[in-house]
Amino acid sequence: MNRRGFIQISSVALLPILLGIFPKPSKDRGKYSIDVKSNRSFGHLLRSLSKTDPVSERSVDYVIVGGGVAGIAAATQLSGKSFVLFEADDRLGGSSASDHWKDTVFAMGAHYELAYPESFGKEVIDLLKRMNVIRFNDYSKLYEFVDEQYVIDKAQMEQCFLKGELIDDVLSDVEGGDKFEEILMAFKGKMLLPTRLIEEEYHYLNTISFKEFIESKMTLSDDLERRISYQMLDDWGGKCDEVSALAGIHYYMCRPYDEKDVPLFSPPNGNSYFIEKMVGYVDEPDAFEVNTLVRSIREVEDGVEIEVITPAREVELIRAKKVIYAGQKHALKYILRTEKPLFDNSYAPWLVLNFICRKGVDFDKWQNDVVTDNLEFLGFVNSRAQKTRSKDYDVFTAYYCLSELNREQLVKIEEEPADFVESTIDLIADETGTNLRDYLEHVNIKLMGHAMPIPKPGYLSFKDVPSHSSNIIFAGVDTGRLPLFYEACDSGIQAGKNLLEEIKNKNYEG
Ligand SMILES: Cc1cc2nc3c(=O)[nH]c(=O)nc-3n(C[C@H](O)[C@H](O)[C@H](O)COP(=O)(O)OP(=O)(O)OC[C@H]3O[C@@H](n4cnc5c(N)ncnc54)[C@H](O)[C@@H]3O)c2cc1C
Repeated sequence: MNRRGFIQISSVALLPILLGIFPKPSKDRGKYSIDVKSNRSFGHLLRSLSKTDPVSERSVDYVIVGGGVAGIAAATQLSGKSFVLFEADDRLGGSSASDHWKDTVFAMGAHYELAYPESFGKEVIDLLKRMNVIRFNDYSKLYEFVDEQYVIDKAQMEQCFLKGELIDDVLSDVEGGDKFEEILMAFKGKMLLPTRLIEEEYHYLNTISFKEFIESKMTLSDDLERRISYQMLDDWGGKCDEVSALAGIHYYMCRPYDEKDVPLFSPPNGNSYFIEKMVGYVDEPDAFEVNTLVRSIREVEDGVEIEVITPAREVELIRAKKVIYAGQKHALKYILRTEKPLFDNSYAPWLVLNFICRKGVDFDKWQNDVVTDNLEFLGFVNSRAQKTRSKDYDVFTAYYCLSELNREQLVKIEEEPADFVESTIDLIADETGTNLRDYLEHVNIKLMGHAMPIPKPGYLSFKDVPSHSSNIIFAGVDTGRLPLFYEACDSGIQAGKNLLEEIKNKNYEG
């Protein structure tokens, strides 16, 4: 998480998750409830209603598919127009959604954002300024967050557990760390967001892996490689031999970490904070329809026809002029039924566990990186480090990033969550000495089979917004962008602007 430090490491445990083996339930298993959320149910729903015809229809000018950051950012551009946004889940947010237990809110996915240098693209900055989310700090020369109470104290920011050893951050004192840093410094100020702004002279870095790039410049020890891979998995869902050199360099160099303390913003509800701000900015609260799955999109002479499965589990036909598709692209083969896949993405499966504990766990740091041998368990964040926290509960949010080959393990975990929860509690106790079990009241598990696109070599597109036709425009991080809030937000803004621009040009020509 801390991209400035430079390492010294080790390895450790391993979760039997890879093998699908969890320890037998221990006799002293704590008394807590478990809630599992998985989007696998969307597939079941599609299959069960595949032969059902629409029972109703309506017309609207524009449709947005998907209520993650990208879809909602697109909605901010269509405010005041006739549009509807459909979200399959029971809430908005996608991988930036939040949940609550009693009166305690917590993130179920994306949980932080960092202040922005002036060189970043102006569209996202303008939107966040208009929503009073950021303001420019003349002293630091960064766009910083207006709700300062959600900025994490530097002293509580991070620690890393490695082979039973506690170090400041993942790259602390690692052999080769200085050389690695020196290599990266050549790209200072060049790794912009959105990535479409990165100058062409750096695009070649998108054609090779990060490991190849590092090895072309220095000797890469196993230790350094493992620690870099941990950091790549943490943000990009792939190890350093899987992600592109551009993604790898971007991770370390996209902000001036070497010169300043870049404020890290983490509200209790995580990046759902931005979702709520954007929804509040749009004039039409009724335009957001959750629990509504888009099952097909068809181009017709005067626009598009979209079939949705409503919350009442009926099929409705929507006629629209244009659609912005901001759902994950791996499902397009069912929805658009194109002959060839439109996107060639690999997706990392992720699991997020929120442990809601009564007060009493003595643990202070916000980000707790845990570097194990297999690297699938990444560690956890701790709500106690957030200044505005619940009076009754602390929430420990643990993250696993699985290899694509282990996606099927999510099914087993969904079916037998209890052993997996116990296994994770034991892992946290073994690695960090922290016992959550005695204080645990509830566990939320979120399983995401296609959580984030892995930025492999060749993945980044540097394009504005891809489209299928002038009536079907794509948005989302998985359109050749890095899996980050800024990229999702920019792609949604661009899609909304492009859609309106096309309409303007058409009216002008007409
Ligand atoms: C575990 C995890 C942690 C992360 N942490 C961070 C972080 O801290 N900071 C950061 O900047 N980024 C983080 N990210 C990256 C994150 O993915 C992006 O920041 C952003 O949330 C992606 O938004 P999106 O709109 O592109 O995609 P998604 O969030 O995937 O949204 C797509 C939405 O479309 C909906 N949908 C799909 N198909 C249909 C359909 N047919 N009908 C209706 N709805 C549909 C889905 O349900 C979903 O809500 C994290 C990602 C993960 C997985």
